[in-house]
Amino acid sequence: MSSSGAERSIFSRIIDREIPATIVAETDRIIAFNDINPQAPVHIVITTKTPEFRNVVELAATDPGLLAELVDVARQIADERTGGEFRLIFNTGPAAGQTVFHVHAHILGGSLEEGSLGSR
Ligand code: AMP
Repeated sequence: MSSSGAERSIFSRIIDREIPATIVAETDRIIAFNDINPQAPVHIVITTKTPEFRNVVELAATDPGLLAELVDVARQIADERTGGEFRLIFNTGPAAGQTVFHVHAHILGGSLEEGSLGSR
């Protein structure tokens, strides 16, 4: 469902096809697309179509089933694109690097360094 007004996020505009993105998966409630600024060989943003949750903490507290659905779609994407091994990152808050306040995770995969917590 579309949101409206000045607070619409860049992700809501992608969901509503107002700006282009390479969409890699979509369900009734979830959408995933390639990150415009990839930090790994595979870097996909996965988000809820609803903009009502600002971060994963709010999503988990309010609709854990939707969080589980997001993780399952991420797993399906990783099965197809990264051999099922992947990093799933929810930046939560500006000091943690969050820039878009519409809950989303980063699916990172492909030759990531073992033991690292950075982007590669
Ligand atoms: P975060 O910093 O965790 O809030 O993540 C936001 C992510 O959205 C960043 O990795 C951006 O590169 C990505 N992003 C921003 N605008 C777009 C866009 N138009 N298409 C695809 N990814 C985008």
